[in-house]
Amino acid sequence: MVNIYSSALNQSIQIDRIIGAVKGNQPGPCLIFIGGIHGNEPAGVFALYQVIKSLKSQRTKISGAVYALAGNLKALEQSKRFIREDLNRMWDEDKIKGLKNGAFDASHNDQVEQKELFDLISDIQKTENGPFYFFDLHTTSSRSIPFLTVNDTLLNRAFTRSYPVPKILGVEEFLEGPLLSYLNEKGFVSFGFESGQHDTLEAIENHVAFIYLSLFFTASLKNNLISLDLFYSKLEAASAFKTSFFEIYHRHEIKIDDTFIMIPGYSNFQAIRKGDVLAISNKCDIKASRSSLMFMPLYQDQGDDGFFFIRKIPYLFMWLSALFRKWHFDWILRFLPGVSWHKTDKDTLIVNKKIAFLMVRQLLHLMGYRNKRLDKYHLIIKSRETASKRNAYKNEIWY
Ligand SMILES: [Zn+2]
Repeated sequence: MVNIYSSALNQSIQIDRIIGAVKGNQPGPCLIFIGGIHGNEPAGVFALYQVIKSLKSQRTKISGAVYALAGNLKALEQSKRFIREDLNRMWDEDKIKGLKNGAFDASHNDQVEQKELFDLISDIQKTENGPFYFFDLHTTSSRSIPFLTVNDTLLNRAFTRSYPVPKILGVEEFLEGPLLSYLNEKGFVSFGFESGQHDTLEAIENHVAFIYLSLFFTASLKNNLISLDLFYSKLEAASAFKTSFFEIYHRHEIKIDDTFIMIPGYSNFQAIRKGDVLAISNKCDIKASRSSLMFMPLYQDQGDDGFFFIRKIPYLFMWLSALFRKWHFDWILRFLPGVSWHKTDKDTLIVNKKIAFLMVRQLLHLMGYRNKRLDKYHLIIKSRETASKRNAYKNEIWY
């Protein structure tokens, strides 16, 4: 058990890796919520603790199962983002292989946490039937309206459409090894919810609203059992751009020896103009190279994402890309200059950076090829759609 403190509530709770779990008498989906994968973000943990407690005390009937898991326990205890390594940047193929083979460093706190979380998630998948849903609860260092971070698959798009908050697609292209990308590559519906600024009461309340709405949207909970409209209105009132999808198109990375200070006062989704001074890095001003929308400006010591730029995705593009993916138009991609199929992996394309670029990349996005890995001369781009477990969700109400 570890002790976790919330300054927003001025309250401490004691939790284990499993914050709580509720099993229904009726068959239904399996929902897995993860709070505090970043230890300086206790809001998700407190919200989960509260909802599970309330479901149990009121004996609310649910279908299927709900699991509330804690991410980085030791970091949560110390109110730090992580101890040695960001637990939400460690879920790449090599590290997962290491976990499976037992090849991990037992003196490395964050690796031990990852191993425990990995084993637990694997066990739940063995004991429950699913369909499985994964929700990763976060907060931001800057002021923010609530929003979802979504790996761009048709399944994720279809499911997340129900929430009255903006959705940010394609985060996976800019981050190495987030937990959600790993789960998405396994084909599950999985996405993140950012509820607001760390240590605010609002962030906890928005998480609570999100958790209840998720129970409802997955049909784990029926509307007449709890006043879900209240929770819907809560998120709706807190947000702008409620029905919009956005994409990230620029990330300012903080390199290991960089100094970085974000200019105070920026918030998520804030419009910025070309030339605005955004941050000071290595004693130089960092100015906006174009007008844009600010996303995730960094106002804390730990972390290497300085800030991002986002833009709204036109509705036509969303519609067209869904159509192209459903009809498997991928075959036309190999006729593009500089693009070829990977020799063994059918869902993977090799893009020669010297020959193909901007327009080709946009077309690849249209087809759902988003997850890129770089070698020196090539982009290796994987389709998100091939792994999607569409059959597992095809009888769900939102499908
Ligand atoms: Zn976080």
